[in-house]
Amino acid sequence: MSSSGRSRTIWGRVVSRPKKGDERAIRRNTCQVCNAEIHILAKLCKRCKRLVDRVDPRRNPDRADRTRALQRAWDGTGFRCHYSGVRLEETNRGDPRYLTFDHRTPRDEHDVVVAAGCLNDMKSDMSEEEFRAVVQAFASHSAGGKFDERVLRLAHWKR
Ligand SMILES: [Zn+2]
Repeated sequence: MSSSGRSRTIWGRVVSRPKKGDERAIRRNTCQVCNAEIHILAKLCKRCKRLVDRVDPRRNPDRADRTRALQRAWDGTGFRCHYSGVRLEETNRGDPRYLTFDHRTPRDEHDVVVAAGCLNDMKSDMSEEEFRAVVQAFASHSAGGKFDERVLRLAHWKR
């Protein structure tokens, strides 16, 4: 019995059944984030899947939001921080450049970006706009100018 030439639908994709022994036909799908070659039934490669499925005990992350964040951060060979552009570290948690998922606006579960762990920690409960304003006020003060205290009216701050 041969099934070659027939097609079926898997997760919304029409795929033709691979001929027996045709490895390339079996593996011709590509990762939604990095375009690496993956199994026909997979959506993400192992590298990207590990990042999307990372456990965050404080929140209930959405895989689609994380996938979109990773797609935007992908530079062709690795991931870059939304706030600084630095290349991110994917495995070593102790590295300041460790890849983290950040809520651009605190507690807006769907507005997710990828950011270096140290910058994510600094940003804390600030929106992106507030974070940039505070950093600029700090830089201005560090250069001998005045720290504009109005930037500390933080709409999302919670303690
Ligand atoms: Zn991938």
